[in-house]
Amino acid sequence: MSDALADTPSPVEVDCLIVGAGPVGLFAVFELGLLDIKAHLVDILPKVGGQCAELYPEKPIYDIPGFPSVSGQGLVDNLMQQIEPFGATFHLGQQVDAIEVLGTAEKPLFRVVTDAGTVFMAKTIAIAAGGGSFQPKRPPVPGIEGFEGSSVFYSVRRMDAFRDRDVMIVGGGDSALDWTLSLAPIARSLTLMHRRDEFRAAPHSVEQMRALVAEGKVNLVFGQITGLEGAAPALAGVTCRGLDNQPFTVPCDRLLPFFGLTMKLGPIAGWGLNLHENLIAVDTEKFETSVPGIFAIGDINWYPGKLKLILSGFHEAALFAQKAHRYVYPDKRLTFQYTTSSSSLQKKLGVS
Ligand code: FAD
Repeated sequence: MSDALADTPSPVEVDCLIVGAGPVGLFAVFELGLLDIKAHLVDILPKVGGQCAELYPEKPIYDIPGFPSVSGQGLVDNLMQQIEPFGATFHLGQQVDAIEVLGTAEKPLFRVVTDAGTVFMAKTIAIAAGGGSFQPKRPPVPGIEGFEGSSVFYSVRRMDAFRDRDVMIVGGGDSALDWTLSLAPIARSLTLMHRRDEFRAAPHSVEQMRALVAEGKVNLVFGQITGLEGAAPALAGVTCRGLDNQPFTVPCDRLLPFFGLTMKLGPIAGWGLNLHENLIAVDTEKFETSVPGIFAIGDINWYPGKLKLILSGFHEAALFAQKAHRYVYPDKRLTFQYTTSSSSLQKKLGVS
């Protein structure tokens, strides 16, 4: 399976483009694969697994059929193993921005563009975008927008942008601690601020961070951001309020606030699909949207009685794949088969 950022020249021609690599997008690869439909997946996050991997990787899930208990990340790992035979291509760290309808209702064709400039020509699209795109929460600081992208960042795309800089990281979770450990060796100075002396990050990372503090390589302070200094977009410092309510300033020219993620519908709202309260309306036979050839499965869709459960998304993936087959292979007949008894399906799975 090619799981790196696919470095293919544009446009990429695909049978089915899956928007979102959460559990439902991943299982769709399996259902499509059984029907000989190759899938490419795009996800805004740098890793697969959607909410399971991003929001609750260690929490046990108790209502996946056949698994009395499986952690969020464990489920994602199992799905990745299950879809391995089908060689899906992942385009991670990219948001699908625009979809243009080129074909007809009988023979759909779509031009899809991501914010990284990747262009796809897709015969069908499955939107498995969950609650929409994860977006970083902004610290409630007036005027912060003017510094974003130049001095204030919510993720690290290029570590070199922080080399020989005075960096301030704010937060107490895994992202804040991981980047403290990675950037401390290359930054001119690095200050980590959290609102209390208790961290949610992995204990091992906290231990390593405390060792860097003891060596004088990281400056650890406690408090909250109150404002930014400097003429936007050039940051000169961050004003803060300490636990004792006293103000203090951290001189810095790069700020990385890690305040968690929220979910927003994002560009999906502009794709011309019928929506129902910010969700994509679909039928319950094929989970097709108001545009023939575009399907919506998992948390992003709506139909009467919809339950936002992983198992509902798995069911929807199985049914949409049947209709996708008709678009991708209009001249082939589709016969229903069980994986237990079909040698041709077992061959595709590499088990016979
Ligand atoms: P998601 O997991 O949300 O994945 C969608 C993906 O699409 C994301 O990775 C996102 O980055 C990507 N995306 C969105 N827009 C774009 C775009 N424009 N371009 C590119 N990528 C995009 N469900 C259960 O069944 N059982 C449980 O016990 C359970 N516990 C839960 C506990 C918590 C704390 C939470 C938050 C949820 C829980 N859920 C549970 C719900 C479950 O996680 C969701 O139903 C499931 O994740 C939906 O899967 P999905 O693939 O549809 O969407």
